[in-house]
Amino acid sequence: VPEIIQLLRSGLPLSQHDHSRVDFGIQRKGPVLFSEHPPNEGLQKALLLAPENVIEEVTRSRLRGRGGAGFPTGLKWKSCRSFAARDRVVICNADEGEPGTFKDRVLLSEVPELLLEGITIAAWAIGASIGIIYLRAEYAYLKPVLEKHLQERREKGLLGTRIHDKDFSFDIQIHMGAGAYICGEESALIESLEGKRGAPRDRPPYPTERGYLGLPTTVNNVETFACIPRILARGADWFSRIGTHDSTGTKLHSISGDCNKPGVYEVPFGATVKELLELADAPDVAAVQIGGPSGHLIGPKDFDRKIAFEDLPSGGSFMIFNSQRDLLQIVRGFSEFFKEESCGWCVPCRVGTALFPRLLDKILGQQGTLADLHQLESLAGTVARTSRCGLGQTAPNPILDSLKNFRPLWDSQLTNLDFQPDFDLEKSLA
Ligand code: NAD
Ligand code: SF4
Repeated sequence: VPEIIQLLRSGLPLSQHDHSRVDFGIQRKGPVLFSEHPPNEGLQKALLLAPENVIEEVTRSRLRGRGGAGFPTGLKWKSCRSFAARDRVVICNADEGEPGTFKDRVLLSEVPELLLEGITIAAWAIGASIGIIYLRAEYAYLKPVLEKHLQERREKGLLGTRIHDKDFSFDIQIHMGAGAYICGEESALIESLEGKRGAPRDRPPYPTERGYLGLPTTVNNVETFACIPRILARGADWFSRIGTHDSTGTKLHSISGDCNKPGVYEVPFGATVKELLELADAPDVAAVQIGGPSGHLIGPKDFDRKIAFEDLPSGGSFMIFNSQRDLLQIVRGFSEFFKEESCGWCVPCRVGTALFPRLLDKILGQQGTLADLHQLESLAGTVARTSRCGLGQTAPNPILDSLKNFRPLWDSQLTNLDFQPDFDLEKSLA
Protein backbone atom coordinates (compact mmCIF):
# COMPACT_ATOMS: atom_id res chain seq x y z
CA VAL A 1 0.00 0.00 0.00
CA PRO A 2 1.88 3.14 -1.15
CA GLU A 3 0.61 5.33 1.67
CA ILE A 4 1.91 2.95 4.32
CA ILE A 5 5.34 2.81 2.73
CA GLN A 6 5.40 6.59 2.72
CA LEU A 7 4.36 6.62 6.36
CA LEU A 8 7.24 4.32 7.26
CA ARG A 9 9.81 6.13 5.19
CA SER A 10 8.89 9.57 6.38
CA GLY A 11 10.24 8.91 9.87
CA LEU A 12 7.57 11.14 11.39
CA PRO A 13 6.30 10.28 14.84
CA LEU A 14 3.05 8.35 14.75
CA SER A 15 1.15 11.27 16.28
CA GLN A 16 1.92 13.44 13.28
CA HIS A 17 0.55 10.82 10.92
CA ASP A 18 -2.45 10.52 13.16
CA HIS A 19 -3.14 14.25 13.24
CA SER A 20 -3.75 14.16 9.52
CA ARG A 21 -5.92 11.09 9.92
CA VAL A 22 -7.62 11.09 13.32
CA ASP A 23 -10.30 13.58 12.60
CA PHE A 24 -13.53 12.27 14.00
CA GLY A 25 -14.33 14.51 16.91
CA ILE A 26 -12.38 15.76 19.88
CA GLN A 27 -13.71 13.00 22.10
CA ARG A 28 -12.01 10.44 19.94
CA LYS A 29 -8.68 12.17 19.58
CA GLY A 30 -7.81 11.38 23.18
CA PRO A 31 -4.29 10.93 24.48
CA VAL A 32 -1.83 9.49 22.00
CA LEU A 33 0.11 6.67 23.62
CA PHE A 34 2.85 5.95 21.19
CA SER A 35 4.47 9.33 20.60
CA GLU A 36 5.75 12.43 22.38
CA HIS A 37 7.10 10.17 25.05
CA PRO A 38 9.96 11.43 27.24
CA PRO A 39 12.53 8.64 26.85
CA ASN A 40 12.92 6.29 29.81
CA GLU A 41 10.65 8.27 32.11
CA GLY A 42 8.55 5.12 32.64
CA LEU A 43 11.63 2.98 33.33
CA GLN A 44 13.00 5.45 35.87
CA LYS A 45 9.67 5.49 37.70
CA ALA A 46 9.45 1.69 37.58
CA LEU A 47 12.91 1.28 39.07
CA LEU A 48 11.91 3.48 42.02
CA LEU A 49 9.16 0.97 42.79
CA ALA A 50 9.44 -2.57 44.09
CA PRO A 51 8.76 -5.09 41.26
CA GLU A 52 5.50 -6.15 42.94
CA ASN A 53 4.32 -2.53 42.89
CA VAL A 54 5.10 -2.25 39.17
CA ILE A 55 2.90 -5.30 38.60
CA GLU A 56 0.24 -3.71 40.81
CA GLU A 57 0.31 -0.53 38.70
CA VAL A 58 -0.03 -2.50 35.45
CA THR A 59 -2.87 -4.53 36.99
CA ARG A 60 -4.69 -1.34 38.08
CA SER A 61 -4.38 0.02 34.52
CA ARG A 62 -6.41 -3.03 33.36
CA LEU A 63 -4.11 -3.33 30.34
CA ARG A 64 -5.00 -6.40 28.24
CA GLY A 65 -2.75 -8.20 25.75
CA ARG A 66 -2.80 -6.55 22.32
CA GLY A 67 -1.98 -9.73 20.31
CA GLY A 68 -5.69 -10.52 20.06
CA ALA A 69 -6.71 -12.64 23.04
CA GLY A 70 -6.77 -9.78 25.57
CA PHE A 71 -5.41 -11.63 28.61
CA PRO A 72 -4.81 -9.20 31.54
CA THR A 73 -1.13 -8.22 31.44
CA GLY A 74 -0.78 -7.61 35.19
CA LEU A 75 -2.17 -11.09 35.92
CA LYS A 76 0.26 -12.66 33.46
CA TRP A 77 3.24 -10.91 35.06
CA LYS A 78 2.07 -11.79 38.56
CA SER A 79 1.69 -15.43 37.57
CA CYS A 80 5.20 -15.44 36.05
CA ARG A 81 6.79 -13.89 39.15
CA SER A 82 5.00 -16.32 41.46
CA PHE A 83 6.94 -19.34 40.17
CA ALA A 84 10.26 -19.77 41.95
CA ALA A 85 13.10 -20.28 39.46
CA ARG A 86 16.81 -19.61 38.97
CA ASP A 87 15.84 -17.10 36.27
CA ARG A 88 12.88 -15.83 34.29
CA VAL A 89 12.43 -14.76 30.68
CA VAL A 90 10.67 -11.92 28.84
CA ILE A 91 9.79 -12.53 25.21
CA CYS A 92 8.48 -9.90 22.84
CA ASN A 93 6.32 -11.53 20.18
CA ALA A 94 7.21 -9.53 17.06
CA ASP A 95 6.13 -12.34 14.72
CA GLU A 96 3.32 -10.22 13.35
CA GLY A 97 1.84 -12.67 10.87
CA GLU A 98 -1.90 -12.15 10.80
CA PRO A 99 -2.77 -11.10 7.23
CA GLY A 100 -3.69 -7.44 7.15
CA THR A 101 -1.80 -6.59 10.35
CA PHE A 102 1.16 -4.19 10.12
CA LYS A 103 0.86 -2.03 13.24
CA ASP A 104 3.74 -3.75 15.08
CA ARG A 105 5.96 -3.03 12.10
CA VAL A 106 5.19 0.67 12.51
CA LEU A 107 5.96 0.55 16.25
CA LEU A 108 9.20 -1.36 15.62
CA SER A 109 10.36 1.10 13.00
CA GLU A 110 9.09 4.37 14.50
CA VAL A 111 9.23 3.98 18.29
CA PRO A 112 11.66 1.10 18.99
CA GLU A 113 12.90 2.87 22.16
CA LEU A 114 9.41 2.71 23.63
CA LEU A 115 9.29 -1.04 23.00
CA LEU A 116 12.73 -1.69 24.51
CA GLU A 117 11.81 0.40 27.55
CA GLY A 118 8.58 -1.57 27.98
CA ILE A 119 10.42 -4.90 27.78
CA THR A 120 12.97 -3.70 30.37
CA ILE A 121 10.19 -2.63 32.77
CA ALA A 122 8.58 -6.08 32.34
CA ALA A 123 11.91 -7.74 33.16
CA TRP A 124 12.26 -5.66 36.37
CA ALA A 125 8.68 -6.52 37.34
CA ILE A 126 8.88 -10.27 36.87
CA GLY A 127 12.55 -10.69 37.82
CA ALA A 128 14.02 -11.72 34.47
CA SER A 129 17.59 -11.47 33.21
CA ILE A 130 16.87 -12.91 29.75
CA GLY A 131 15.05 -10.86 27.12
CA ILE A 132 14.28 -11.98 23.58
CA ILE A 133 12.61 -10.27 20.65
CA TYR A 134 11.26 -12.90 18.24
CA LEU A 135 11.24 -10.93 15.02
CA ARG A 136 9.20 -11.93 12.00
CA ALA A 137 11.44 -13.19 9.16
CA GLU A 138 9.92 -10.68 6.77
CA TYR A 139 11.02 -7.85 9.11
CA ALA A 140 14.72 -8.78 8.80
CA TYR A 141 15.43 -5.27 7.50
CA LEU A 142 14.48 -3.92 10.96
CA LYS A 143 17.07 -6.04 12.77
CA PRO A 144 20.11 -3.72 12.24
CA VAL A 145 18.07 -0.73 13.46
CA LEU A 146 16.95 -2.59 16.58
CA GLU A 147 20.52 -3.85 17.20
CA LYS A 148 21.74 -0.24 17.03
CA HIS A 149 19.18 0.84 19.61
CA LEU A 150 20.07 -2.11 21.85
CA GLN A 151 23.77 -1.20 21.67
CA GLU A 152 23.00 2.43 22.55
CA ARG A 153 21.00 1.29 25.57
CA ARG A 154 23.90 -0.92 26.70
CA GLU A 155 26.25 2.06 26.41
CA LYS A 156 23.85 4.22 28.47
CA GLY A 157 23.63 1.54 31.18
CA LEU A 158 19.95 0.84 30.42
CA LEU A 159 20.78 -2.78 29.57
CA GLY A 160 23.50 -5.00 31.03
CA THR A 161 24.61 -5.50 34.62
CA ARG A 162 23.35 -3.43 37.57
CA ILE A 163 20.95 -1.24 35.60
CA HIS A 164 20.49 2.11 37.42
CA ASP A 165 22.74 0.69 40.15
CA LYS A 166 20.02 -1.78 41.12
CA ASP A 167 20.34 -5.47 41.70
CA PHE A 168 18.98 -5.84 38.19
CA SER A 169 20.89 -7.33 35.25
CA PHE A 170 19.09 -7.76 31.99
CA ASP A 171 19.81 -7.84 28.28
CA ILE A 172 17.78 -8.38 25.11
CA GLN A 173 18.73 -10.44 22.07
CA ILE A 174 16.95 -10.66 18.74
CA HIS A 175 15.95 -14.01 17.31
CA MET A 176 14.77 -14.18 13.71
CA GLY A 177 11.68 -16.20 12.81
CA ALA A 178 11.76 -18.36 9.70
CA GLY A 179 8.49 -17.37 8.07
CA ALA A 180 5.97 -19.68 9.71
CA TYR A 181 2.65 -18.13 10.79
CA ILE A 182 2.23 -20.74 13.54
CA CYS A 183 5.33 -19.40 15.32
CA GLY A 184 3.24 -16.37 16.29
CA GLU A 185 1.45 -18.76 18.66
CA GLU A 186 3.47 -18.33 21.84
CA SER A 187 4.26 -21.97 22.63
CA ALA A 188 5.26 -22.70 19.01
CA LEU A 189 7.40 -19.56 19.18
CA ILE A 190 9.14 -20.93 22.29
CA GLU A 191 9.71 -24.31 20.61
CA SER A 192 11.24 -22.47 17.66
CA LEU A 193 13.47 -20.43 20.00
CA GLU A 194 14.71 -23.68 21.52
CA GLY A 195 15.76 -24.85 18.05
CA LYS A 196 12.85 -27.23 17.53
CA ARG A 197 10.13 -27.40 14.94
CA GLY A 198 7.57 -24.66 15.51
CA ALA A 199 4.59 -26.66 16.78
CA PRO A 200 2.36 -25.58 19.67
CA ARG A 201 2.66 -27.16 23.10
CA ASP A 202 -0.27 -28.26 25.22
CA ARG A 203 -1.24 -25.52 27.67
CA PRO A 204 -1.38 -25.59 30.69
CA PRO A 205 1.29 -25.35 31.81
CA TYR A 206 1.29 -21.82 30.46
CA PRO A 207 4.65 -20.23 29.63
CA THR A 208 4.38 -18.15 32.82
CA GLU A 209 5.00 -21.42 34.66
CA ARG A 210 7.14 -23.35 32.16
CA GLY A 211 8.28 -21.52 29.07
CA TYR A 212 11.62 -20.95 27.34
CA LEU A 213 14.08 -23.66 28.52
CA GLY A 214 11.54 -24.62 31.18
CA LEU A 215 11.83 -21.20 32.88
CA PRO A 216 8.87 -18.99 33.85
CA THR A 217 8.35 -16.84 30.77
CA THR A 218 6.23 -13.83 29.95
CA VAL A 219 5.31 -13.51 26.27
CA ASN A 220 3.67 -10.25 25.20
CA ASN A 221 2.93 -8.58 21.92
CA VAL A 222 4.94 -5.54 20.67
CA GLU A 223 2.00 -3.18 21.22
CA THR A 224 1.45 -4.44 24.78
CA PHE A 225 5.06 -3.66 25.71
CA ALA A 226 4.80 -0.26 24.00
CA CYS A 227 1.89 0.67 26.33
CA ILE A 228 3.90 -0.03 29.48
CA PRO A 229 6.21 3.06 29.70
CA ARG A 230 3.23 5.42 29.50
CA ILE A 231 1.36 3.51 32.21
CA LEU A 232 4.32 3.86 34.54
CA ALA A 233 5.05 7.46 33.57
CA ARG A 234 1.52 8.81 33.75
CA GLY A 235 -0.10 6.32 36.09
CA ALA A 236 -2.66 3.55 35.92
CA ASP A 237 -5.55 5.93 36.63
CA TRP A 238 -4.72 8.06 33.60
CA PHE A 239 -4.48 4.98 31.36
CA SER A 240 -7.63 3.29 32.64
CA ARG A 241 -9.71 6.37 31.88
CA ILE A 242 -9.02 5.89 28.14
CA GLY A 243 -11.19 3.42 26.21
CA THR A 244 -13.95 1.36 27.86
CA HIS A 245 -14.15 -0.23 31.30
CA ASP A 246 -13.21 -3.69 30.04
CA SER A 247 -10.81 -2.53 27.30
CA THR A 248 -8.65 0.30 28.57
CA GLY A 249 -6.24 2.42 26.54
CA THR A 250 -5.95 2.90 22.81
CA LYS A 251 -5.66 0.33 20.05
CA LEU A 252 -3.63 0.47 16.87
CA HIS A 253 -5.56 -0.58 13.78
CA SER A 254 -3.91 -1.52 10.49
CA ILE A 255 -6.56 -0.36 8.03
CA SER A 256 -6.30 -1.62 4.48
CA GLY A 257 -8.42 -2.50 1.47
CA ASP A 258 -11.12 -0.46 -0.26
CA CYS A 259 -10.70 2.95 1.34
CA ASN A 260 -9.10 6.25 0.46
CA LYS A 261 -6.92 6.58 3.57
CA PRO A 262 -5.35 3.25 4.52
CA GLY A 263 -2.84 3.33 7.34
CA VAL A 264 -2.16 2.70 10.99
CA TYR A 265 -4.56 4.52 13.32
CA GLU A 266 -4.38 4.89 17.06
CA VAL A 267 -7.92 4.99 18.41
CA PRO A 268 -9.30 4.55 21.94
CA PHE A 269 -11.00 1.20 22.52
CA GLY A 270 -14.76 1.48 22.07
CA ALA A 271 -14.73 3.18 18.67
CA THR A 272 -17.35 1.67 16.38
CA VAL A 273 -16.63 -0.03 13.07
CA LYS A 274 -18.51 2.82 11.40
CA GLU A 275 -16.21 5.40 12.99
CA LEU A 276 -13.13 3.59 11.73
CA LEU A 277 -14.66 3.41 8.25
CA GLU A 278 -15.22 7.18 8.37
CA LEU A 279 -11.60 7.71 9.46
CA ALA A 280 -10.37 5.64 6.56
CA ASP A 281 -12.75 7.38 4.16
CA ALA A 282 -14.47 4.24 2.88
CA PRO A 283 -17.75 5.23 1.18
CA ASP A 284 -18.67 1.84 -0.31
CA VAL A 285 -18.32 -1.03 2.17
CA ALA A 286 -19.92 -4.46 1.82
CA ALA A 287 -17.89 -6.24 4.51
CA VAL A 288 -15.04 -5.79 6.97
CA GLN A 289 -12.67 -8.48 8.15
CA ILE A 290 -11.78 -7.60 11.74
CA GLY A 291 -8.75 -9.18 13.41
CA GLY A 292 -7.55 -10.83 10.19
CA PRO A 293 -8.73 -14.15 8.74
CA SER A 294 -8.65 -15.67 12.25
CA GLY A 295 -10.99 -12.86 13.38
CA HIS A 296 -14.46 -12.06 12.08
CA LEU A 297 -16.04 -11.17 8.76
CA ILE A 298 -18.92 -8.77 9.37
CA GLY A 299 -21.48 -6.98 7.23
CA PRO A 300 -23.27 -3.59 7.56
CA LYS A 301 -25.68 -4.80 10.27
CA ASP A 302 -22.68 -5.01 12.63
CA PHE A 303 -21.06 -1.66 11.75
CA ASP A 304 -22.41 -0.01 14.93
CA ARG A 305 -20.56 -2.53 17.09
CA LYS A 306 -17.56 -1.44 19.14
CA ILE A 307 -14.00 -2.61 18.71
CA ALA A 308 -13.33 -3.79 22.23
CA PHE A 309 -12.66 -7.10 23.94
CA GLU A 310 -16.23 -7.16 25.24
CA ASP A 311 -17.76 -6.71 21.77
CA LEU A 312 -15.58 -7.13 18.67
CA PRO A 313 -12.01 -7.98 19.71
CA SER A 314 -9.20 -7.31 17.25
CA GLY A 315 -5.49 -8.00 17.13
CA GLY A 316 -5.22 -4.95 14.88
CA SER A 317 -6.24 -5.94 11.36
CA PHE A 318 -9.10 -4.09 9.68
CA MET A 319 -9.62 -5.09 6.02
CA ILE A 320 -12.30 -3.30 4.04
CA PHE A 321 -14.12 -4.89 1.07
CA ASN A 322 -16.40 -2.90 -1.22
CA SER A 323 -19.48 -4.12 -3.06
CA GLN A 324 -17.44 -5.03 -6.17
CA ARG A 325 -15.46 -7.69 -4.29
CA ASP A 326 -16.24 -11.38 -4.57
CA LEU A 327 -16.47 -12.18 -0.85
CA LEU A 328 -16.61 -15.92 -1.35
CA GLN A 329 -13.38 -15.85 -3.34
CA ILE A 330 -11.84 -13.91 -0.45
CA VAL A 331 -13.04 -16.64 1.93
CA ARG A 332 -11.48 -19.17 -0.41
CA GLY A 333 -8.19 -17.27 -0.36
CA PHE A 334 -8.18 -17.31 3.45
CA SER A 335 -8.86 -21.04 3.48
CA GLU A 336 -5.84 -21.58 1.22
CA PHE A 337 -3.76 -19.52 3.68
CA PHE A 338 -4.75 -21.72 6.63
CA LYS A 339 -4.11 -24.91 4.65
CA GLU A 340 -0.62 -23.62 3.90
CA GLU A 341 0.10 -22.52 7.48
CA SER A 342 -1.38 -25.45 9.47
CA CYS A 343 1.55 -27.11 11.24
CA GLY A 344 -0.04 -30.52 10.62
CA TRP A 345 0.31 -31.76 14.21
CA CYS A 346 -3.36 -32.56 14.85
CA VAL A 347 -5.84 -34.29 12.56
CA PRO A 348 -8.83 -31.89 12.64
CA CYS A 349 -6.77 -28.91 11.52
CA ARG A 350 -4.43 -30.77 9.14
CA VAL A 351 -7.26 -32.60 7.34
CA GLY A 352 -9.94 -29.94 7.76
CA THR A 353 -7.86 -27.08 6.36
CA ALA A 354 -6.95 -29.28 3.36
CA LEU A 355 -10.61 -30.15 2.73
CA PHE A 356 -11.92 -26.57 2.96
CA PRO A 357 -10.45 -25.28 -0.33
CA ARG A 358 -11.58 -28.45 -2.12
CA LEU A 359 -15.15 -28.09 -0.92
CA LEU A 360 -15.08 -24.37 -1.67
CA ASP A 361 -13.81 -25.01 -5.19
CA LYS A 362 -16.66 -27.40 -5.80
CA ILE A 363 -19.30 -24.96 -4.54
CA LEU A 364 -17.78 -21.85 -6.13
CA GLY A 365 -17.37 -23.81 -9.40
CA GLN A 366 -21.19 -24.12 -9.50
CA GLN A 367 -20.93 -27.87 -8.87
CA GLY A 368 -22.14 -27.82 -5.26
CA THR A 369 -25.44 -28.82 -3.71
CA LEU A 370 -27.02 -28.02 -0.39
CA ALA A 371 -25.44 -31.27 0.85
CA ASP A 372 -21.97 -29.84 0.14
CA LEU A 373 -22.81 -26.63 1.97
CA HIS A 374 -24.10 -28.62 4.89
CA GLN A 375 -20.93 -30.70 4.91
CA LEU A 376 -18.78 -27.56 4.77
CA GLU A 377 -20.60 -26.02 7.75
CA SER A 378 -20.44 -29.24 9.73
CA LEU A 379 -16.73 -29.73 9.02
CA ALA A 380 -15.98 -26.09 9.91
CA GLY A 381 -17.73 -26.52 13.28
CA THR A 382 -15.80 -29.73 14.01
CA VAL A 383 -12.42 -28.17 13.14
CA ALA A 384 -13.18 -25.09 15.29
CA ARG A 385 -14.14 -27.25 18.29
CA THR A 386 -11.55 -30.01 18.15
CA SER A 387 -8.31 -28.44 16.88
CA ARG A 388 -5.40 -28.29 19.29
CA CYS A 389 -4.43 -24.63 19.05
CA GLY A 390 -5.75 -21.23 18.06
CA LEU A 391 -4.82 -21.64 14.40
CA GLY A 392 -7.14 -24.58 13.82
CA GLN A 393 -9.78 -23.24 16.19
CA THR A 394 -10.05 -20.00 14.21
CA ALA A 395 -9.29 -21.25 10.66
CA PRO A 396 -13.00 -21.94 9.94
CA ASN A 397 -14.06 -18.42 11.02
CA PRO A 398 -14.23 -16.91 7.50
CA ILE A 399 -16.41 -19.83 6.36
CA LEU A 400 -18.68 -19.78 9.42
CA ASP A 401 -18.99 -15.98 9.44
CA SER A 402 -19.79 -15.80 5.76
CA LEU A 403 -22.42 -18.53 6.18
CA LYS A 404 -23.94 -16.55 9.04
CA ASN A 405 -23.71 -13.03 7.63
CA PHE A 406 -23.75 -13.53 3.85
CA ARG A 407 -25.85 -16.68 3.38
CA PRO A 408 -27.56 -15.54 0.12
CA LEU A 409 -24.14 -15.41 -1.56
CA TRP A 410 -23.64 -19.08 -0.78
CA ASP A 411 -27.16 -20.11 -1.81
CA SER A 412 -26.69 -18.38 -5.16
CA GLN A 413 -23.79 -20.75 -5.91
CA LEU A 414 -25.76 -23.98 -5.38
CA THR A 415 -27.20 -26.23 -8.05
CA ASN A 416 -29.66 -28.03 -5.76
CA LEU A 417 -31.36 -26.32 -2.84
CA ASP A 418 -33.77 -29.18 -1.98
CA PHE A 419 -31.37 -31.55 -0.26
CA GLN A 420 -32.30 -32.60 3.29
CA PRO A 421 -29.34 -34.15 5.16
CA ASP A 422 -30.05 -37.56 6.71
CA PHE A 423 -26.74 -37.56 8.64
CA ASP A 424 -25.73 -34.65 10.86
CA LEU A 425 -22.07 -34.88 11.94
CA GLU A 426 -22.50 -32.10 14.53
CA LYS A 427 -25.43 -33.89 16.19
CA SER A 428 -23.76 -37.28 16.08
CA LEU A 429 -20.68 -35.83 17.82
CA ALA A 430 -22.70 -33.93 20.44
P1 NAD B 1 -5.11 -17.53 24.87
O1 NAD B 1 -6.37 -16.87 25.30
O2 NAD B 1 -4.99 -18.99 25.07
O3 NAD B 1 -3.89 -16.87 25.68
C1 NAD B 1 -3.61 -15.51 25.66
C2 NAD B 1 -2.43 -15.27 26.55
O4 NAD B 1 -2.79 -15.41 27.91
C3 NAD B 1 -1.25 -16.20 26.35
O5 NAD B 1 -0.06 -15.49 26.52
C4 NAD B 1 -1.41 -17.23 27.46
O6 NAD B 1 -0.19 -17.82 27.87
C5 NAD B 1 -1.98 -16.36 28.55
N1 NAD B 1 -2.78 -17.13 29.50
C6 NAD B 1 -4.04 -17.63 29.28
N2 NAD B 1 -4.47 -18.25 30.40
C7 NAD B 1 -3.47 -18.15 31.32
C8 NAD B 1 -3.32 -18.58 32.67
N3 NAD B 1 -4.27 -19.26 33.30
N4 NAD B 1 -2.17 -18.29 33.31
C9 NAD B 1 -1.18 -17.59 32.69
N5 NAD B 1 -1.27 -17.14 31.42
C10 NAD B 1 -2.40 -17.43 30.75
O7 NAD B 1 -4.88 -17.10 23.36
P2 NAD B 1 -3.73 -17.57 22.32
O8 NAD B 1 -4.14 -18.89 21.74
O9 NAD B 1 -2.37 -17.49 22.97
O10 NAD B 1 -3.82 -16.44 21.22
C11 NAD B 1 -4.94 -16.40 20.36
C12 NAD B 1 -5.11 -14.99 19.86
O11 NAD B 1 -4.04 -14.61 19.01
C13 NAD B 1 -6.37 -14.83 19.04
O12 NAD B 1 -7.16 -13.82 19.63
C14 NAD B 1 -5.90 -14.39 17.65
O13 NAD B 1 -6.72 -13.41 17.11
C15 NAD B 1 -4.56 -13.84 17.94
N6 NAD B 1 -3.66 -13.85 16.79
C16 NAD B 1 -2.85 -12.79 16.62
C17 NAD B 1 -1.98 -12.73 15.55
C18 NAD B 1 -1.10 -11.53 15.34
O14 NAD B 1 -0.39 -11.43 14.33
N7 NAD B 1 -1.10 -10.57 16.27
C19 NAD B 1 -1.88 -13.83 14.67
C20 NAD B 1 -2.72 -14.92 14.88
C21 NAD B 1 -3.61 -14.93 15.95
FE1 SF4 C 1 -0.94 -27.50 14.28
FE2 SF4 C 1 -3.33 -26.73 13.36
FE3 SF4 C 1 -3.22 -28.52 15.26
FE4 SF4 C 1 -2.53 -25.97 15.77
S1 SF4 C 1 -4.55 -26.72 15.25
S2 SF4 C 1 -1.47 -27.84 16.44
S3 SF4 C 1 -1.62 -25.42 13.79
S4 SF4 C 1 -2.38 -28.76 13.16
